[in-house]
Amino acid sequence: MNFAPDPNLDAFRQQVRAFLHQHLPADLPRRKDGLRSPRADVVRWQRILNAQGWGAPYWATEHGGTGWSVQQRLVFDEECAAAGTPSQDSFAQKLVGPVLNHFATPEQKAEHLPPIFNGERLWCQGFSEPGAGSDLASLRTRADRDGDHYVINGQKIWTSYAHHTDWIFLLVRTDANVKKQSGISFLLVDMKTPGITVRPIISIDGCHHLNETFFDNVRVPVKNLIGAEGEGWSITKFLLNNEHASTADLPTLRRLHGQISALSHTAQAGELSLAYRYEFLLRLARYDAELKAISIMVQRVAAMEQDHSPAAHAMGSMLKVRGTELQQRMSEFLVETLGDHGAVAYPGTHAEPYRQPQSLPMAQTAQGIASEMFFRRATTIYGGTSEIQRSIIAKSLFRL
Ligand SMILES: Cc1cc2nc3c(=O)[nH]c(=O)nc-3n(C[C@H](O)[C@H](O)[C@H](O)COP(=O)(O)OP(=O)(O)OC[C@H]3O[C@@H](n4cnc5c(N)ncnc54)[C@H](O)[C@@H]3O)c2cc1C
Repeated sequence: MNFAPDPNLDAFRQQVRAFLHQHLPADLPRRKDGLRSPRADVVRWQRILNAQGWGAPYWATEHGGTGWSVQQRLVFDEECAAAGTPSQDSFAQKLVGPVLNHFATPEQKAEHLPPIFNGERLWCQGFSEPGAGSDLASLRTRADRDGDHYVINGQKIWTSYAHHTDWIFLLVRTDANVKKQSGISFLLVDMKTPGITVRPIISIDGCHHLNETFFDNVRVPVKNLIGAEGEGWSITKFLLNNEHASTADLPTLRRLHGQISALSHTAQAGELSLAYRYEFLLRLARYDAELKAISIMVQRVAAMEQDHSPAAHAMGSMLKVRGTELQQRMSEFLVETLGDHGAVAYPGTHAEPYRQPQSLPMAQTAQGIASEMFFRRATTIYGGTSEIQRSIIAKSLFRL
């Protein structure tokens, strides 16, 4: 495989940088943590991207997307993270959007795609339930047909951002008398429909990203069914078989490494700053090497994904395991680098605007960093736990 720098990709990077330099408004809060930005920022940034023709950076041109290669998408993500742009709605862009492009009727596309492009409609994902996470096919939320409607009863859990999104894509059981995978359907539901209750779950980082979502006789028009009744499981497999090269979250890894390096010049260890301590530098160099190894692996998986190689799925699982474990270790190292300040749970959340570590007193620099470290514990759970990823790798390697 050829890892020589691609001059076209360099030119593309310059184009993205120039766009960000010109169009990222100075008053739009900078993101420092790779997590979802506040709703108003997501919407405003989506409109700016859409005006540039970049409203769907991960989609093919026939679906109104940019048609960028996997490598270009990664460059775009990297540059946006480096500039601290608000996030896009990843549930719309990477999950339900591709499903709509592939499975929806022309009427469904006409209804749901324009509000994704112009940022009017944000989405959340209603898959997991108590007792149905890794074993998703065991889900029990029911949708019973009643004339032109389905009536939904049941509960979803860990529904990220359900408290400030507009629509949810749901997996529901439409037939309890067939093999469990065959009785699942994929439904789109307006979050304002009567009978939906959203209750917050405050996670270990002290923030509100997660929710329980309850459905009590929620009536949803049959026209909101995607694909055929009972086709939900194959749609889900399609949905999960996307974006393998981005599972390591390289921009976050690079940002954590940069924060640690920058802090080492101000954080004291006795008389000297950490940047002069051999043990510290050795650890940082090890992380540097791991980061370089992951970057090369990302290039490799991107090339496989671009070529539609069937092995990209298992390679993406390898990247997810390595990348998320590294995120956890590096965010712990960052807290250690803060010394005594790292031990304090500072009140600011990790959704606070970006701050340059060198230019501020340590107590302010430390804000949100411990909170992010706690949040990163979840990275080896969401998007499929590490144990499930290892099973995918084993099945692929050993054809189990
Ligand atoms: C921060 C966060 C955000 C999330 N956002 C969403 C969201 O927006 N929408 C949504 O639908 N879900 C969301 N989830 C849920 C997530 O997808 C599930 O938590 C995940 O699939 C694991 O399911 P579970 O929590 O039920 O754990 P379980 O599946 O019960 O797993 C418990 C433990 O058993 C292990 N285990 C389970 N089965 C196996 C097996 N076959 N082999 C080996 N080990 C196994 C797991 O690896 C884990 O360690 C989110 C979760 C988190 C933490």
